[in-house]
Amino acid sequence: MKEKSGDGSGESTRRNFIKKIGAGFGTVSIAGITGSSVISGSAKTKSGEKILLLSPEGKLVEVDRDDISPAGKKTADLKAEAKKGLPGHKFVMVIDLSKCRNARLCVDACQEGHMLPKDHEWMKLYLLQDDRHTARYWLPRPCFHCDKPMCVSVCPVGATYKRDDGIVLVDNQRCIGCKFCMTGCPYSARVFNWKDPEVVLPEGHVYDPETNIPPVEGTVGKCVFCADNLRKNILPRCVTACPMGVIYFGDVLEDTVTNGEETLRFSKLMTDRAGFRYREELGTLPNVFYLPPNNRMFPVERGLEGSDEAIKGRYKEVGPR
Ligand code: SF4
Repeated sequence: MKEKSGDGSGESTRRNFIKKIGAGFGTVSIAGITGSSVISGSAKTKSGEKILLLSPEGKLVEVDRDDISPAGKKTADLKAEAKKGLPGHKFVMVIDLSKCRNARLCVDACQEGHMLPKDHEWMKLYLLQDDRHTARYWLPRPCFHCDKPMCVSVCPVGATYKRDDGIVLVDNQRCIGCKFCMTGCPYSARVFNWKDPEVVLPEGHVYDPETNIPPVEGTVGKCVFCADNLRKNILPRCVTACPMGVIYFGDVLEDTVTNGEETLRFSKLMTDRAGFRYREELGTLPNVFYLPPNNRMFPVERGLEGSDEAIKGRYKEVGPR
């Protein structure tokens, strides 16, 4: 894993800047400065309004108010927020199998948004056929964020947990890589990080279980329903990336789901289109629902023209006849 460091890093810039101005101003009068702000160090027009800060060397220094900006949240704060979730919500996803033609943009958006290597697919596409007399269809499979998640019940260290808003997360800093959750999940929704991916983290990045960035070597990752986006009132990445409007996302407490183009009543959609949960008989109560692949809007296509050979090879034996 490569992290940005050196002179350009936020921490380095802050320390250097404080050191520099500290030398110039020396000790000044007392003011109640806490660690909740950091100096941005960016060059901009100053307002002239001065405030006092405590330098890392324990000196009080006077700085222009425009030179400070709020500090980013620490991992401990983000972990506490992640555990709490978004009270008053119960998230649900609906995937319309009649519309999917394996464009794979949901997979790409997920990998890009979570800095995943190309062989890590939190959203996976399966080419299925229910009967030899029926047509094949594509089935996108994220984590189902089950209400009775087997992955959570088998984790020996409490690294994976279920929130009240329905989302199941993994704390990669707590995960010991035993893979019990991978064995427990009946949907193969979890992916093991065999090695740290070659990614450059954004400046000032801190670990947040709502994004699972970076993927940590020797731990398990999976779809997080883009919990970070939901906190900002933004739809999950797979939903907005899909050009067919296959994936709907919403809140069962509001009885509403949307694919970004149309907003529908969740209960009516389930009744009218005979929505179902994958392998419901297992009793895991997934929060991902499917609409059957009838009245298809597209004939099944491989849709793999732009994909690399490894992905094409995966579907070689199962492609449409
Ligand atoms: Fe856990 Fe698998 Fe259910 Fe996701 S789909 S919540 S990983 S049991």
